[in-house]
Order: sequence, then C-alpha cells, then structure tokens
Amino acid sequence: MTRKIIPIVSAGSEEIGLYEATQKIYPRTVRGMFARWRWAMVFLTQLVFYGLPWAEWGGRQMVLFDLAARRFYIFGLVLYPQDLIYLSGLLVVSALALFLFTAVAGRLWCGYACPQTVYTEIFMWVEHKIEGNRTARMRLDAEPMSLEKLVKKWFKHLVWIGIAMWTGFSFVGYFTPVRELGMAFLQTQMGSWEVFWVFFYGFATYGNAGFMREQVCKYMCPYARFQSAMFDRDTLIVTYDPQRGEPRAPRRKGPDPRTLALGDCIDCGLCVQVCPTGIDIRQGLQYECIGCGLCVDACDTVMQKMAYPPGLIRYDTQNGTEAGWSRRVLRPRVLVYTGVLALLVAGLLASLVVRTPFKVDVVRDRASLARIAEGGRLENVYRLQIMNATEKPQHYRITADGLDGLSVSPEEVVEVDAAQSRWVAVRLQVPYGAVPAGSHTVHFAIREEGGGAQVSEKAAFLVPR
Ligand code: SF4
Ligand code: SF4
Repeated sequence: MTRKIIPIVSAGSEEIGLYEATQKIYPRTVRGMFARWRWAMVFLTQLVFYGLPWAEWGGRQMVLFDLAARRFYIFGLVLYPQDLIYLSGLLVVSALALFLFTAVAGRLWCGYACPQTVYTEIFMWVEHKIEGNRTARMRLDAEPMSLEKLVKKWFKHLVWIGIAMWTGFSFVGYFTPVRELGMAFLQTQMGSWEVFWVFFYGFATYGNAGFMREQVCKYMCPYARFQSAMFDRDTLIVTYDPQRGEPRAPRRKGPDPRTLALGDCIDCGLCVQVCPTGIDIRQGLQYECIGCGLCVDACDTVMQKMAYPPGLIRYDTQNGTEAGWSRRVLRPRVLVYTGVLALLVAGLLASLVVRTPFKVDVVRDRASLARIAEGGRLENVYRLQIMNATEKPQHYRITADGLDGLSVSPEEVVEVDAAQSRWVAVRLQVPYGAVPAGSHTVHFAIREEGGGAQVSEKAAFLVPR
C-alpha cells in the first residue's frame, strides 16, 4: 500500500511524522478459484439475509424478532422475553463456533462471509461496472471535475445508496413484520423508529462498504484484534513461500529460475494490486490480511504464465511453510473448543426439548385490595398473563393452593390463541376468618389441557386486620 507521511512536528531541522495518512486503495480485479468462492459466498449470504425476512413458516414470518409484541419467532420456535436465555445461548454458541473456526481455518470468515467483506465486494463491483477497471478508476479520480466524471460519480453513489437502503430495510424487516413494513413504506406511513433504523443501518452500510472499506477491518473490528489469540502455528493462513520465491526479480518467461540463481517470484506486484487491504503478503503474516485468497489467485495466474508450479502464495500453516509439516487439525486448542461447543449445543438442545410450551406471569391487582365477596368470602384479585409458545391454540386450567379453603373464582379454563398471550383476571377466595391477618404465600398451578405441561407461580394473599 502506498502511504503518505504528513510531517506535523519540526524538531530543529528534523521533521517528525506523527500522522500517517492512508491513501485510497484501488484493488485490481482478479479471476480464479478463490475469487469465485468469494462471489459464491456473496450470493449465499445475501440470499439468506435479504430472503429470510420474506420466508414464511406456518402462516407467519419465519424469523422475526417482534420487539413491539415482545415475541421472537425462529422457524418453529416462539420465544418470549423470559426465554432470552436461549438467545443468549445461541450467541455464545455462535461466538464459540467462530473461535473454533478461527483456530482451524484462520480468517476465512473475514475473507468470505463477514458482512464488511461481502458489502465491500458488492460496492466494488458496482464501482468497477460504472467507473471501469483499476487504471480507469485511478485516472478518473485524478482528473479534474467534468460532466462525465460527475455523472459517473453520481450514478455510482445512487446505486450504492439504493443497495444500502435495501440492506437497512431488510435489517429492520427482522424486527418488524416485513410485509407490513413494505406496505407502510409504500404508503409513506413507516414509524419513526423504523425510519431511523433503516437510515442508520443503510448509512452504516454505505459508509463502511463505500468509503471505510479495509479501514474497518484494520482499525475498527474487535474480532480482528483478538483473533491472534486463537492463532497458532497450525492455523490456516495465506502465506508466501520465501524459500521458493526469493531472491525475487523480474525476468522473461523461459529459463529455469535456478539457472538464473533466482526464486520463483518475478516481482510483478500483482499480489499487492489485487489485495483489498493493500498489503504485501511477501512481507510475512500481517494482521491486516483478511485471508481472502485473492493474492493466491493472482500469483497462481502469474505462475501459470511463467510455466512455474502454482502455490508460491497459498493457504498453508506456519509449520507447513517453514518445516513442511502436514496440518494438524486435532490439537489441544481445537479439541478444547470443540468439547466446550459440543457441551453447550447439547445443553441448549436439551433445554429446548424439555422447555415448558407456555409461560405465566402473575401480577397482583393493586387497584383492588382484599375485599369481602358475595357469600362472605375474603377475596384477592390477580392478573395472570398466559403466553402460549406453541403454534396451536391451547386451553389452560387455573388452580391454586396454599391456604385452607382456598378456591379460584370463577374456576375456569382459559383459551389462548397460537403464539399469543392473554391477560386474565383471577380471584382467589378463602372463608372469612379462616386465615389470620397478614401476607400468606399461595401457589397458582396452570395446567395445559390435554397435555402434561404445568407451570407453578408464587403469589401473596393479603388478609387485612
Ligand atoms: S504475484 Fe507472485 S510473482 Fe508476482 S510479485 Fe506477487 S508473489 Fe511475486
Ligand atoms: S494478503 Fe492476500 S489474502 Fe491477505 S488480504 Fe491481501 S489479498 Fe487477501
């Protein structure tokens, strides 16, 4: 990468550069196996991201974190805020899976599936289509403003903004039913929060993929900072083979490099020109390398033209490059990550299987204190919220115990629609004078009719003096 040092401090006759300005990177387009894999991942990830909000499951949105209704739908699961533990578990499993993946495969996530990489790839493709190849883009940027330059730049930004806004809309579609959101958008009746998040996420996409690009990976991404802790000498990395490549020098195709006392690197610089983070992988492993493999494609193309064997730059491990060891996938670090991950996944699945298919919240009706009801019985009133976490309407029978002569009035069976919650008022009564004054603990038992599931909830029954 070309860098410009801006001197800002003078010490006598010496100028000291304290700020290193980064110049724009113009990556060259490259063809090859890893470039194709990158595009395959762009299609796959965007198919999932843009498509999932529109997919349906049993007549509702397949994945929806409906914050307004306080319900999360994930395929066949209906989760309530009380089930947040499952979402937290899912996040922990995802993080651990990423640790394991990093220990084994290095930064393949960064190079192929990270949203920053994927959107940068899409935005660069748009740029390439509108402004031309690397040379044309460099020339256009260096030119003074003209009508042609203005039109190209405006058109590029218009397309970028379109993609960014669609991305923001899709993101919000995971939190607000996407079809309703679409209708509200068409009728310009979107809520202010939805508008804010569409613009916020869209603006972040536009800024990160259009302008920040490799700066996000180098300076902002926390994962890039701590992943070196998961690396060891058997982790897969993109590496240049200096034993084979050095001494490097340009030459014509033809003679065997050994007869020229040269290595295989012809110092063409293509590996640097295609690099989206602008580094020279021949200088060794660098934290800026996102493991995208584009330099591998570029160098393999050069090797093919020179009739040299491919793999001067390749995916390998440090042990593989330096000592010729084969890769050790089964090593202590990997086994520990795998073991912990397997335990967590098993625990999460087991708790999902035995999970009670409904939830209950009991709230004492503070507007109505203890009172004497018809028939001379002492009564406390409660509000029960019953949350049906199944895809079918259910009936629930409410009973209570904990005090002599305690009864539920009216004793009823409550129906709650599929994946819905319902508030019901429940009165508990005891014979007047049967219970001493004070606060007494009672237990509600809510049983699913036709199924064995039962939830027990504690409450306080007040007897005035
Ligand atoms: S692409 Fe290959 S041959 Fe060209 S400079 Fe890079 S390592 Fe050397
Ligand atoms: S050095 Fe190679 S693998 Fe690393 S970011 Fe640059 S092009 Fe991608």
